[in-house]
Amino acid sequence: MFDARLPSLDLAAQYTALDQIQDQDVAATLRKSILDSHDFHTLISPAAAHYIEPMAQRAQQLTHQRFGKAMQLFIPMYLSNLCYNKCTYCGFSVEHKYPRVILSDKEIVAEGQLLAKKGFQHLLLLTGEAEDKVGVDYIVHAIGLLRPMFASIGIEVQPLSETDYRKVIAAGADGLTLYQETYHPESYQKHHLAGKKKHFSKRLQALEDGAKAGFHKINIGALLGLYAWRYEALALSAHLDYMKKKYWQSQYMISFPRIQEMFGEYNPAYDVRDQDLVQLICAFRLCFPDLGISLSTRECATLRDNLVGLGITQMSAESNTAPGGYSGMDSESQFDIADHRPLPLIQDMLKRKGYDPVVKNWDAVLT
Ligand code: SF4
Repeated sequence: MFDARLPSLDLAAQYTALDQIQDQDVAATLRKSILDSHDFHTLISPAAAHYIEPMAQRAQQLTHQRFGKAMQLFIPMYLSNLCYNKCTYCGFSVEHKYPRVILSDKEIVAEGQLLAKKGFQHLLLLTGEAEDKVGVDYIVHAIGLLRPMFASIGIEVQPLSETDYRKVIAAGADGLTLYQETYHPESYQKHHLAGKKKHFSKRLQALEDGAKAGFHKINIGALLGLYAWRYEALALSAHLDYMKKKYWQSQYMISFPRIQEMFGEYNPAYDVRDQDLVQLICAFRLCFPDLGISLSTRECATLRDNLVGLGITQMSAESNTAPGGYSGMDSESQFDIADHRPLPLIQDMLKRKGYDPVVKNWDAVLT
């Protein structure tokens, strides 16, 4: 099983060694015609921050070569904000006192109909982690209600067993999103204070259980701001390499959510600047050319527009992080989003840049 604490990885030593990389090492790496995961360290080093422009140009060419000028659009739908875990950075954390919501069948269908009418066909279902109330049976039932309205449904819910993941796939889901949040074990303990999510290894294991169960698409990521982004990047690339080799049947996608404001107060301990995000996206694109890269509405409209073309292949649009939020239900959200533009405005922006905004997931239809 993959574990960021594996002695063979020694991520702390790898992280420290990044400071030894010199400008000439970056220049030599960028002269190579093909880059792979072995070059990743060099491209996320502090020295490579001086080479953002050539990296961005190459990332753009590579993205167009591999993915064309298509941008897949999806929308998240929160089914519940009930959660028994205590995560320092999250508006759903158990210590926040407000009425919790679990959508009923009628409310799920109403949300689904509204989103399908807007034109979305690719849906990501989310819940907090409350196994007894929004466990696998509830999730499977929700997928059953929504499946006829959407071409593709992914889940971002509590870690499940391989058997339960199989039930979710059988109900019609094809994508699994499960972020480790931080790959730095001490930071993980500091930010996951109570509940089942306290267990660092179990979360990693669940991702492998999802791959074994047969999810077609798997999305991994780290919540940037919990620890040093370069360390998280090293861990993510090692995790990705491991998953691609061991569970090669799945397609992989990566996300880099940055912490945003939420119910209560949380100030990220580690700063991740816009230019850091650009370096990170370009490094992943150059070293993992076929990797899907997803960008959420946590980022502001200007930055999202500027990142189109640098390696992003999928964007969320019109997101609302409160259960029932699209139908106007008064419920608490998980975090604030920064890009509030409706779908047609995002589509217009993409078309102006020469991109084809894709709301239908043809890939899911074909498989
Ligand atoms: S991050 Fe997930 S597990 Fe943690 S409190 Fe929020 S919803 Fe619950």
